[in-house]
Amino acid sequence: MAGGPPAAGGSAESGYTALPARLAEIRQRINEARTRGGRGQDVRIVAVTKTHGPEAVAAAVRAGIGDVGENRVQEAIAKMSEVDVAVRWHLIGHLQRNKVREAGRFALIHSVDSERLAEALDREALRAGRTFDVLLQVNASGEASKGGFGTDEVPRVAERLQSLAGLRVTGSMTMAALGASEPELRASFARARAARDVMSAAGHPAGEISMGMSQDYEIAVEEGATLVRLGTILFGARETR
Ligand SMILES: *Cc1c(COP(=O)(O)O)cnc(C)c1O
Repeated sequence: MAGGPPAAGGSAESGYTALPARLAEIRQRINEARTRGGRGQDVRIVAVTKTHGPEAVAAAVRAGIGDVGENRVQEAIAKMSEVDVAVRWHLIGHLQRNKVREAGRFALIHSVDSERLAEALDREALRAGRTFDVLLQVNASGEASKGGFGTDEVPRVAERLQSLAGLRVTGSMTMAALGASEPELRASFARARAARDVMSAAGHPAGEISMGMSQDYEIAVEEGATLVRLGTILFGARETR
């Protein structure tokens, strides 16, 4: 990617001029949703820059965002090398076990979706002499196509993860079903919240709930989200890949 052509349209910066205003409105909506939800949690926006170039990251940082999310390791790494501003990089998509060597580049891995991945990350943390902050991905919608632990597995996994000293399990993450009704969304988000509570009760430092995307972040915040992962609503539509 480095050395590639400038973004289409000539001015890479001009594509994101609407960002500060959009962000101000989103922050206000988040505050209102938090008030309606009555949980009093802090909410952080993770700006999802997948398919967008490094100028999207720069624009987000200028607008006051400190957390950036990518769903593919290779794309994230390429972008990291092109961005010269300090941000916390979040991995929000599936991490293949053969890429755990790259885990240390991320401030938070949202997508621990199997015990084998958790074990591989634990080994990598030991090797690197550090710990990794991770979230347990929960399949709260029950869709067969979705990754993550079933909610019935969470108590057992919570216990299992206690023996992995290389991981700090700081919460749960979920993706709602596409096109779900509001009651379905609320039920899924409540399950992710319950999973976070199970992790916390099992002794993990689990305060975070990563849930809510452009279409459903207000409901997610009402249901207790502490991290919302927003792409389209910040940067516009992605090119389909
Ligand atoms: C792409 C993506 C998002 C952001 O989706 P938008 O609908 O564009 O806000 C959030 N979470 C994950 C895991 C994603 O892959």
